[in-house]
Amino acid sequence: MFKVFVAHPIPKSGLQMLSGLQVDVNDQPGPLAKTDMISRAKDAHAIISFLSDKIDKEVLAACPNLKIISNYAVGVDNVDLSAAAERGVIVTNTPDVLTEAVAEHTIALMLAAGRRVVEADRFMRAGRYKMWEADLFLGKQFKGSVLGILGCGRIGTRVAEIASLGFGMEIIYYDARRNPEIEKHLGAKFVDQADLVGQADVLSIHVPLTESTRHLVDAAKFSQMKPDAILVNTSRGSIIDEAALVEALRNKTIAAAGLDVFENEPNMAPGLAELDNVVVTPHIASATVTARDDMARLAAQAVLDVAAGRTPAHVIAK
Ligand code: NAD
Repeated sequence: MFKVFVAHPIPKSGLQMLSGLQVDVNDQPGPLAKTDMISRAKDAHAIISFLSDKIDKEVLAACPNLKIISNYAVGVDNVDLSAAAERGVIVTNTPDVLTEAVAEHTIALMLAAGRRVVEADRFMRAGRYKMWEADLFLGKQFKGSVLGILGCGRIGTRVAEIASLGFGMEIIYYDARRNPEIEKHLGAKFVDQADLVGQADVLSIHVPLTESTRHLVDAAKFSQMKPDAILVNTSRGSIIDEAALVEALRNKTIAAAGLDVFENEPNMAPGLAELDNVVVTPHIASATVTARDDMARLAAQAVLDVAAGRTPAHVIAK
């Protein structure tokens, strides 16, 4: 019997699809220790994992039957891809179905940071609103502002569309590959990294976390940004040097940030929580009912495909 270890509960839409297989779901709340992952998954043919599950050489070596790691996420930075490839273990992810949810959350963070929504909410609740004032919580107007997209793949492209067509923002982008579609449809301009950070009024990060993108946005980049610029990150925390970001926000090197992801989740860099000019959410960009149900279906389908000897739709290149 094909054995599946589901490292954390996923929506029923996916679990029900696995009813013909032998399924063990870990329903303990909280992170799963590596030793527990190994003891629960050691006989499994498939693991459905979360981005918080580090699947490294040691885990792979301890699970000799493993055929597939079906990651319930788009990013696969939690998996040692070369170790998986060496053992012939397929790694899959759940792209496309969460693009809309993540793009919408990116826009939510951009608006919240730029219009100081959370700061103003705290002000109201504290009973500090005394009278209408001409300069109370002044923020950024987005129409005509420049949105710089770092990584114009599925999510970056959708953010660019919403910002361009919805808000009338100008789009510039940098990516390892040109994106002719958005150049044609949105008049987006491909620029180098220096121009991207130097010209953006809002810089939004959508590259995956790899060795080449770790700390891609660091103190040097912050110093090149406009002092009224807003940084938004819904990709992975480690793409930004978070300690340097705390300094940049504290010193007003940049105006504000909206962050859904952090270098050392679930923690934030020291000092970040004390700053008013940052809006933070707990890695929930894909958290819509629709997206999470569809992700569960995709993750389960990949397992079913491998169990039936088929190649799943979203195999990560090794
Ligand atoms: P994608 O693969 O479609 O897009 C990524 C883009 O980055 C590609 O166009 C690629 O060419 C580009 N890129 C890769 N390395 C680069 C580099 N070194 N320099 C410049 N460009 C580079 O992926 P996607 O579906 O748009 O997702 C993007 C990322 O968003 C994921 O990798 C994941 O980490 C993150 N994500 C986060 C959440 C969340 O809940 N916050 C949800 C989904 C995805």
